[in-house]
Amino acid sequence: MTDLKQLLERASTVYSQNFPPVTWFGRCIFLSWYCDVGTCAFCFRSTIKHKIRHAASAKRTVASILTDAIIGKNLGWRIEFLTGGYRIFPFEEQLEICELVSKVCGSKIWVNLGSIDKERLRRMERYVEGVCASIECVDPELHARICPDKPVEPYSKMLKEAKEMGFKTSCTIVIGLGEKKSDFEKLAEFIESHQLDRITFYALKPVAGTPYTKSPEPEEYAWWVAQTRVRFPKLEIMAGLTPQRSSDYAGVLLKAGANALTKFPAVKRFGSPQAAEIERQAAEAGREFQGSLTRMPEADWEAEVEKLGLEPELERQVKQKLGEYLKGMAGECPENSNK
Ligand code: SF4
Repeated sequence: MTDLKQLLERASTVYSQNFPPVTWFGRCIFLSWYCDVGTCAFCFRSTIKHKIRHAASAKRTVASILTDAIIGKNLGWRIEFLTGGYRIFPFEEQLEICELVSKVCGSKIWVNLGSIDKERLRRMERYVEGVCASIECVDPELHARICPDKPVEPYSKMLKEAKEMGFKTSCTIVIGLGEKKSDFEKLAEFIESHQLDRITFYALKPVAGTPYTKSPEPEEYAWWVAQTRVRFPKLEIMAGLTPQRSSDYAGVLLKAGANALTKFPAVKRFGSPQAAEIERQAAEAGREFQGSLTRMPEADWEAEVEKLGLEPELERQVKQKLGEYLKGMAGECPENSNK
């Protein structure tokens, strides 16, 4: 048996000793497409093309954000976190969005909104349960090269302060940036020293206009997930399906001990062969898929919006947006015709 196969089997065993045989899709909800940092070497937001296409002032509307949350809730997805919009939305607006999205979810949510100071965290605690830091990689030299304007220290401080205040905490890590397997100890040290509750892994998706040209192999990516599962049996591990042929990765990531999957264009690819393949691979990995990427539930969508008690104009906008999204998901919209 190969070393990786043995590792995956160990990780699967550790998973089943600590969690029920279920999985789900974690949807991240973006607040805006522009990023004020915009210099991380691997990120699509660092490319000239993206900066031209998305002006600094271009924010996603609150109606669109809420529509995303309403659809996700009714399809049984969980909100991975609210993210994006670094220094784009004034804090008061971010806070209001957190309140509204947590209202849609009927529970507190997670956020990944840059480094947040204690005062702001305190104001968020009514709506926010967990705080995520986009660390990307743990080797200091690699990090300095890849994220020159996003130092780890402010995130590290936030994670520690948030933990002391009673928030759950997590970080994101991208595999394929040039990390070495020997860096795993640094990652383990980071998880331990910050007492993280969750980690989200992504596989690098190469973007034209960045120096990167390939995603890591599924086995290489799964190695990190499996090592983390074996070392941290109770940690919640989310794994992103970032590469081009994303659904190919689902099964191996679940076998590696990921709790759930994220970073799949679930609205755009709703009901697509790729979405069906993810559900199939989850079943093959022995997991019940909670919610659905393929079947639209019976829902009274108007009532779902009305029960939120929104301001009349916002309610009207959400109903309109929801209608557009649902049409697209049913394949009636040209934007969604590339399933
Ligand atoms: S990785 Fe995050 S902080 Fe860096 S450019 Fe992309 S969105 Fe901005």
